[in-house]
Amino acid sequence: MSVTGAESASGGEAQQADHQHQTVPSDISLRVKSLESLLVEKGLVDPAALDALVDTYEHKVGPRNGARVVARAWTDAAYKARLLADASTAIAEFGFLGVQGEHMVALENTPKIQNVVVCTLCSCYPWPVLGLPPAWYKSNAYRSRAVIDPRGVLQEFGLELAADVEVRVWDSTAELRYLVIPERPAGTEDLDEAALAALVTRNSMIGVENLASPKQVAK
Ligand code: FE
Repeated sequence: MSVTGAESASGGEAQQADHQHQTVPSDISLRVKSLESLLVEKGLVDPAALDALVDTYEHKVGPRNGARVVARAWTDAAYKARLLADASTAIAEFGFLGVQGEHMVALENTPKIQNVVVCTLCSCYPWPVLGLPPAWYKSNAYRSRAVIDPRGVLQEFGLELAADVEVRVWDSTAELRYLVIPERPAGTEDLDEAALAALVTRNSMIGVENLASPKQVAK
């Protein structure tokens, strides 16, 4: 099964679930719903607190946070040094804190090094800077093949690496989460930090995409 195919397949399912109200929810969503009802009924969780959590991860936390960290690292050498030395503390300077972001490591891509992040065991992912993981990140295909055949997986994402580029695959755990600092695209010398942040994609911060120069994109 292709990695990127896995994404579109589950994206399609999600869309269907949204629009076919007559269909029975999936087994997992029924289980979650029952569990939630039970916890609320027993007074163990406050529904308002649950809503606040969902709202946080839907609207406040996401890859735009990570993009701001990357843009700062590109424009401020002292910040980049702090980020590479102690990513958790440097990221906390932005106030991006919280679960699944406690122990962060920043990995810098260079013309000769491509860092790629996976969680082979489950789906560990740096929520405060990237939000919730995409479906393909959680798929068996990505989790197993990113380690066995990283170049093949990157090709499926449209990334052809030269033979002399070293691919480093990093396995996330509950203890360590990674943020890839993609290379700053050529032709962006005149852009300010906010404009640079707008160029940074989620996938580039997982390491499965490299950023094209804005001039290439415009062509
Ligand atoms: Fe995991």
